[in-house]
Amino acid sequence: MVRVRIAPSPTGYLHVGTARTALYNWLFAKKNGGKFILRIEDTDIARSTKEMTDEIIKSLKWLGLTWDEGPYFQSKRLSIYQKYADILLKENKAYYCYCTSEEIAERKKKVMSEKKAWKNARRCLYLSEKEKENFEKENRPKAVRFLVPEGVTEFIDEIHGSIKKDNKDLEDFVLMKSDNTPSYNFAVVIDDMDMHITHVIRGDDHIANTPKQILLYKSLGFQPPKFVHLPLLLAEDKSKLSKRHDAVAVTDYREQGYLKEAFVNFLSLLGWSPGDGREIMSVEELISAFSLNRIIKRGAVFDTKKLMWMNGEYITKMDGEALFKNAVPFLKRDKLLDEKTIEEKREWIINVLLLLKGRVKLLSDFSKLGDYFFTDDFKYDEEGLKKYIDKDRLNKLLLVKERLDRLELFSKEEIEKTVRKFAAESGVKAAFLIHPLRMVVTGNQAGPGLFEVLETLGKEKVVNRIDKFSKIYII
Ligand code: GLU
Repeated sequence: MVRVRIAPSPTGYLHVGTARTALYNWLFAKKNGGKFILRIEDTDIARSTKEMTDEIIKSLKWLGLTWDEGPYFQSKRLSIYQKYADILLKENKAYYCYCTSEEIAERKKKVMSEKKAWKNARRCLYLSEKEKENFEKENRPKAVRFLVPEGVTEFIDEIHGSIKKDNKDLEDFVLMKSDNTPSYNFAVVIDDMDMHITHVIRGDDHIANTPKQILLYKSLGFQPPKFVHLPLLLAEDKSKLSKRHDAVAVTDYREQGYLKEAFVNFLSLLGWSPGDGREIMSVEELISAFSLNRIIKRGAVFDTKKLMWMNGEYITKMDGEALFKNAVPFLKRDKLLDEKTIEEKREWIINVLLLLKGRVKLLSDFSKLGDYFFTDDFKYDEEGLKKYIDKDRLNKLLLVKERLDRLELFSKEEIEKTVRKFAAESGVKAAFLIHPLRMVVTGNQAGPGLFEVLETLGKEKVVNRIDKFSKIYII
């Protein structure tokens, strides 16, 4: 049975790259009726926090990437790593290293100054019994290092093919640090073996670690899993996607107003495609189309414009209820709606959202583009005021207002008839009035169909806004 995992380190928020990796693991598990496991790699005690673990879990849940097992915490499994380190020590496949970090730094500096490649010398492998005894007496901290055997290590990566490494280029890497916590390379092997992981699907920045991990599997007598290294995510300028230029935390995208469905769809195409030109795909469609052999090798560009386009497509397709569920939290966050209004004016809110949705790319745009529906305290677009407001038009608007005020039925048809009739009688084009009317009532130069906007706002608001505007606006 397929068993895959995502193994984030809680030293930061869930990175979009890790989210993409989690998604591919999850899709692969779902496609194959397998299990998806969450493991928190928190052995870097100084940098791991509970807060980040919670954030990572929240982000995975938001994306709908639910796990079948876990979360397992490496910090709770220290005795397991110790047990295997002891086995390797006993079999002389590992040894204690008493070098302090200062000593190592000193040696490293020397080697580098001679312009040679740095590799830790096996000083501690050749310590005499006496020297060891002395170090023990001194209570020197000691790490466990793996004794890299001679030979060449080869593995077949499902995406990159055969990868070979001459063992003489690998140093005797640390298995257990002097504080009794495992190194990443050691813990990952013990856990993947212990958790019966069949496929290690992860970012290709881990290719360089894989030969070390294969050597560990072999030394412990375990069959290594299959390795699938995914292409790196690149920024639009093809550099590595990094915190310095880009939003890299899933939480950022959630807060900016991306829908999880659109975000998952977008992530799925960063390094994979169904091969038939489809782009907008539901999770079910992704599961059924997903396969490892359509994953590409070269880096995948994180194209924010495409993500935004995709989000807009998803929003446009939403019905009123879905819009209500997704957009209302943003309107609430932006203080445009309170609980009472949400409860009492549900249908009206849905109407507003349906009116706006065609222009919206992000959920947060409902506040930006439609604030005038929810508050009288909106801003007037300066350029629009200059373009569309003058004494003549304002006077005409006041006359239109009189007629609108007298309407029994304040429907878009009646409003339109009234405005057009007035324009005809005054010898102006309807557009001569429509633009200033929109400016005065919404503060914007553009928006959804004006007559529908006016109907949705209601007579009182429309009339009051024209009145108020005529009093405060000095021409
Ligand atoms: N904790 C590692 C990371 O976040 C996991 C790598 C792996 O999947 O082996 O990069």
